Amino acid sequence: MEKYDYVIVGAGLFGATFAYEAKKRGKKCLVIDRRNHLGGNIYCENVEGINVHKYGAHIFHTSSKYIWDYVNQFVEFNRYTNSPVANYKGEIYNLPFNMNTFNKLWGVIRPEEAKAKIEEQKKAANITKPSNLEEQAISLVGTDIYEKLVKGYTEKQWGRKATELPAFIINRLPVRFTYDNNYFNDSYQGIPIGGYNVIIDKMLEGIDTELETDYFEEKERLDNLADKIVFTGMIDEYYDYRFGNLEYRSLKFEHEIVDSPNYQGNAVVNYTDSETPYTRIIEHKHFEFGTQEKTVITKEYPKEWGKGDEPYYPVNDEKNTALYKKYKQLADQEENVIFGGRLATYKYYDMHHIISQSLKTVAKELGSRPLVSPAEN
Ligand code: FAD
Repeated sequence: MEKYDYVIVGAGLFGATFAYEAKKRGKKCLVIDRRNHLGGNIYCENVEGINVHKYGAHIFHTSSKYIWDYVNQFVEFNRYTNSPVANYKGEIYNLPFNMNTFNKLWGVIRPEEAKAKIEEQKKAANITKPSNLEEQAISLVGTDIYEKLVKGYTEKQWGRKATELPAFIINRLPVRFTYDNNYFNDSYQGIPIGGYNVIIDKMLEGIDTELETDYFEEKERLDNLADKIVFTGMIDEYYDYRFGNLEYRSLKFEHEIVDSPNYQGNAVVNYTDSETPYTRIIEHKHFEFGTQEKTVITKEYPKEWGKGDEPYYPVNDEKNTALYKKYKQLADQEENVIFGGRLATYKYYDMHHIISQSLKTVAKELGSRPLVSPAEN
């Protein structure tokens, strides 16, 4: 029976980064996943020659030159810049909230006029101590932006009225007084040319993988295969939900092939009214400036999470945070299991955070090493 240094549970970005780095340090890894493909949530499916982001739109962005150089060793990135638009009952607004948005809302042209308008609305609302999300949002951006661009979208995301949601969910609502539609403030962003699978395939080149393999169904066999387990699945599942299950928000995706070269003219369109049941429509070809004859769109419906659904967003409220702490105490005592990635640490992370977290985990476990492999030095 082949013996590995590590069996890595989960072929997502955390597991793949760990495996790639461990291999560079002479370690032998087996990467398993319960799904029928590698890549975890960044996996893309080729439909009509278009890379469809199967588990939600993914845009790589970072301000870390180290992480940017790191991912660029696997793939080149295109010049995609995320500039979503909002559709409120047929009215189109630029996001994030910026001078283009304010011009459309109020006809204002200069930043001072926009600032004055927001201040006037904040003052009229006269909210000194926000007691719920609605009051919090109005106290930050005024009533018009809240009513047209925040309320419906947020209520659909959380499945609850904004007046019933706690104020702390929204700490700040970034407002930009320039004509800049770039959603991110980061120094680097883009989409991998050829899609995200290129990164994962390169990372896992020459590493053993097993798909459609659930760790819990074959725990004994897999534990016996390696000295250590790297676990990137759900931490509560690992402990058989002994303290209860951690809560998530989930999403339902409705993919559709449309017989037209261009459906909505933008990769991301948010539907910010309450009546439209979905929160966004993604048109995948625009991430890669595609010129295919057809297009693929995905409608995104937020929903409550139940066992068997994909866990997308952790609900980091007091109750779940306390529960996670109990699981983490158990995890900290494990000598031969390393917990990492978004599910095992019960936290929303962007891709650049996950790579960084995985690199730090490898460095702690096996010592640090330069970016490139010795052969490339
Ligand atoms: P995952 O990718 O979830 O990988 C974990 C893997 O473990 C999965 O493949 C799962 O099948 C497997 N697994 C779990 N349990 C078991 C088991 N028992 N046995 C076998 N296998 C198991 N980040 C950005 O930077 N930009 C974005 O635009 C962006 N958009 C996002 C949109 C959505 C809707 C979501 C939910 C996330 C988004 N992210 C984005 C975050 C990004 O998806 C994550 O940072 C990243 O995918 C996390 O990688 P991971 O390896 O931790 O987890």
